[in-house]
Amino acid sequence: MSALDMPGADILVTDADARETYLRDATGKWPSHVLSVGRPRSSEEVAAIVRHAAANGLAVVPQGGNTGLVGGCGIGAERPAVMLSLDRMRAIRMIDPVGATVVVEAGCILADLQAAVAEQGFAIPLGLGSEGSATIGGLISTNAGGIRALRYGVMRSLVLGLEVVLPDGRVWDGLRTVAKNNMGYDLKQLFVGGEGTLGVVTAAALRLVPAWQQVETAWLAVESPAAALRLLDALRAALGDVVVACELIQRRGIEWGEAAVPGLKVPGIGDHGWFVLIEFASSARLLPLREALETALGEVMEQGLVLDGTLAESEAQRREFWKIREAVVMGKIAAKPSVTLDVAVPLGQVPAFLDEAEALAEALMPGVECLGFGHVGDGNIHFSVHRGTNDVAAFEPRVAEICAALERLALTHGGSICAEHGVGRRMRDAVAAAVGEVEHDLFCRVKRAIDPENRMNPGAVVAL
Ligand SMILES: Cc1cc2nc3c(=O)[nH]c(=O)nc-3n(C[C@H](O)[C@H](O)[C@H](O)COP(=O)(O)OP(=O)(O)OC[C@H]3O[C@@H](n4cnc5c(N)ncnc54)[C@H](O)[C@@H]3O)c2cc1C
Repeated sequence: MSALDMPGADILVTDADARETYLRDATGKWPSHVLSVGRPRSSEEVAAIVRHAAANGLAVVPQGGNTGLVGGCGIGAERPAVMLSLDRMRAIRMIDPVGATVVVEAGCILADLQAAVAEQGFAIPLGLGSEGSATIGGLISTNAGGIRALRYGVMRSLVLGLEVVLPDGRVWDGLRTVAKNNMGYDLKQLFVGGEGTLGVVTAAALRLVPAWQQVETAWLAVESPAAALRLLDALRAALGDVVVACELIQRRGIEWGEAAVPGLKVPGIGDHGWFVLIEFASSARLLPLREALETALGEVMEQGLVLDGTLAESEAQRREFWKIREAVVMGKIAAKPSVTLDVAVPLGQVPAFLDEAEALAEALMPGVECLGFGHVGDGNIHFSVHRGTNDVAAFEPRVAEICAALERLALTHGGSICAEHGVGRRMRDAVAAAVGEVEHDLFCRVKRAIDPENRMNPGAVVAL
């Protein structure tokens, strides 16, 4: 049997155009060089493909929605490989309304799962720009973060159990839905964030939260990132854990967003330099969230923490506010080439990091433009540096150096250089240097213990 002759009828993608969509990634920088693309319909078919790959000396690259940003599926041509797309395995196997859990196949798209559990009065609290394409398997394998991590944690915090096809083709059924399980090592945690290097996640048991009965969203102008953090603190002190998202946006990002998305409605931009998009949600029907929020906002305005602001008056306006954030991303893309970081620093370090990052970038290359932007509520900053007054030809060759210097800065603040997008191939060597010898040695031992022939997504996360 060859790579082009996988087990099971109708599994291979044979149409050349269709194949191409699996092989090109969201960034356009990490094409996948594979001999064939398989689309299994069941865990048994996944296991059969993995066994087939083992028997034929082929590597296996799992793929979900192909929205990853770090070259997780971008295997090179040097190693013969097959891609295994989970996009046919979308079934929701079970929703347990008593235990508030769901068991779902890995290829289910996040937005579809959110809609299905909403019908039963529940929510999956993960929220990210790619939720219309990213799959549960991909979100687990990258341990995705997103906008509500400050309240609900990252993907890891939702995973109760997993079903995984191991590199030797065995199926590990760890699909437990209990909240407490101390039966030995917590193996599922290795596969969360494993980026397909240890096995193929075929299904997951996830924790659900009660659906939100009330959601309020505010667009607020603040003096500085430090003021944004004081504001977050004050609102949490006043309102408790109803703060579910807190995004920081520098004025320049809004201007770029307005240029990229004509007709964008930005309230009260004035001459303010920094803005916070903050969302509050409660699953309680009877608690007066809006009233409490208006009181709290009155207090923070009196304290001078908010310079100007608008509370969304309707669902349509709430969506308009979130469109501003999406537009900033579009504006950043239009302002390429750029250095974009996925760093996290401890919350209290965010203002210092932003100041120092801007100064460092300017020192390395005078004339650049920097953008402070990100999930400030959990310390995850997608700080970016753009060429500004420099030529593309002068800026582009400096991108890697500027990026490395800024990532080192995040590390000196006690941070991480891979906050939520994963390691993939793009960040692999930088992570090896950042974590140090002991931690990296443990990574390699884990990889060898589970995948001794380095067959699962070789080259991602660790280089063996
Ligand atoms: C517009 C946009 C906005 C984004 N916003 C965010 C954000 O706010 N927060 C965030 O964290 N990320 C964000 N991302 C990144 C991306 O959406 C996430 O990394 C997501 O989790 C990837 O899911 P996927 O299904 O597309 O996985 P893929 O891109 O297909 O794969 C990602 C990695 O996981 C592995 N993998 C996929 N499925 C499986 C499986 N079943 N078993 C084993 N390994 C598997 C792949 O081999 C690869 O290494 C964004 C991306 C885009 C394009």
